[in-house]
Amino acid sequence: MKFEDLGLSQHILDAIKDCGYDTPTPIQEKAIPHILMARDVVGLAQTGTGKTAGFTLPMIEILAGGRAKARMPRSLILSPTRELAAQIADNFDTYGKNCKLTKALLIGGSSMEEQIKIMERGADVLIATPGRLLDLFERGKILLNDIKILVIDEICSLLPPMRQTLLFSATMAPEIKKLTAKFLSNPREVAVDAPASTAITVEQFQVNVSPKNKNSVLEKILKQEHVQNAFIFCNRKRDVDAVGTWLKGKGYKARAMHGDMAQSARTQTLDQFKSGEVTLLVCSDVAARGIDVSSVSHVINYDVPFNPDDYVHRIGRTGRAGEKGRAWMLVTKNDDKFLDSVIKRIGKPVEVIEIDGSNSSSGDDNGSKARSSKPAPKAKDLPEKKTARTADNEQKSKAPNKKPTRSPKPELLDEDPNAAGFGDEVPAFFKM
Ligand code: AMP
Repeated sequence: MKFEDLGLSQHILDAIKDCGYDTPTPIQEKAIPHILMARDVVGLAQTGTGKTAGFTLPMIEILAGGRAKARMPRSLILSPTRELAAQIADNFDTYGKNCKLTKALLIGGSSMEEQIKIMERGADVLIATPGRLLDLFERGKILLNDIKILVIDEICSLLPPMRQTLLFSATMAPEIKKLTAKFLSNPREVAVDAPASTAITVEQFQVNVSPKNKNSVLEKILKQEHVQNAFIFCNRKRDVDAVGTWLKGKGYKARAMHGDMAQSARTQTLDQFKSGEVTLLVCSDVAARGIDVSSVSHVINYDVPFNPDDYVHRIGRTGRAGEKGRAWMLVTKNDDKFLDSVIKRIGKPVEVIEIDGSNSSSGDDNGSKARSSKPAPKAKDLPEKKTARTADNEQKSKAPNKKPTRSPKPELLDEDPNAAGFGDEVPAFFKM
């Protein structure tokens, strides 16, 4: 078989020719067509058999059609050692020299600032050791939601076949099931209740709004609810900033927090929230990950999250340790798909509350249809609540209602909850 028969484009074939390779090695011959057909592949081959080109060449082919986005790499190669990662990066440069793809080599022992700069410019391919990858992820410098191809290179082969393997995952998605079948021997499955059970102590409400009314409805909720302190979640970091600024302008003790902020600023904001100096924390899912603040009275979903698991994590920030918490969600007509996922995830509809003027339309901005099996009570029927606004700030409420600007495409945060994932078919196995 020739390289020309594998389905690779001319610019990749040219690069291969420049390397002086005549024919594909057996692992390349077997693996490349399956990878190009978007199948999962488990390739078992010794070093020196051309394994790296076996996954790098088709990866370049698949990625060449797209474009790098800031902090959202489209592929990830996990390598057990820095040296191996650096070697893969060299291979990537050699085979991809005729394509305009970018890569980031994320390994320990080299400048993190430099790696962050590359991620900010946008990298198509991440080649990383696990420690540095997780470190950068936790700092909010990388989002992995857009990963289309994952390569786990050499990690399993470093281990002896007779071993005890423990795999922990938040969900048992079909792809994880496939992996367990291949890499675990007769595993025992143990599971505890899904985090959806946190909802027991959280009362959940939904307000159908027109996109233009979100800020005024948010303010009405803040006014009528007894908001001691609240997480307000937005899907996009630009809205986190805009809503935070708007609330501050209205006199609320509000701060924004997202992954773009320096770690020191995030820590300071969080400390202020914990101490009560800040009562409304407007944040993204990434920035709020892992944060544990007890006694939060409210969670407000300014946007319906793209990923239903995020909804569960968001509302789980209130109603902790048996306390009662209240969660609100602003829903527009554009959110139907995401709302359906949320309802499916929590297993019941969210009670729809009507707030005066919330669903009024202007122009072609009609509000979302009310979607609940329960009738929608008027907000005024709910118990009267105090507001988080401080008395001396009451005067400022005449500030103009500046709507945060929205981009039709998300910039940095979750886009398609189903974007990542393995194919439905079982992986192709090759042992050389
Ligand atoms: P690897 O198994 O990825 O470590 O590759 C071992 C060596 O084989 C590297 O030096 C590659 O440059 C080389 N190599 C990879 N594919 C081919 C090929 N089709 N023909 C000749 N050499 C190759």
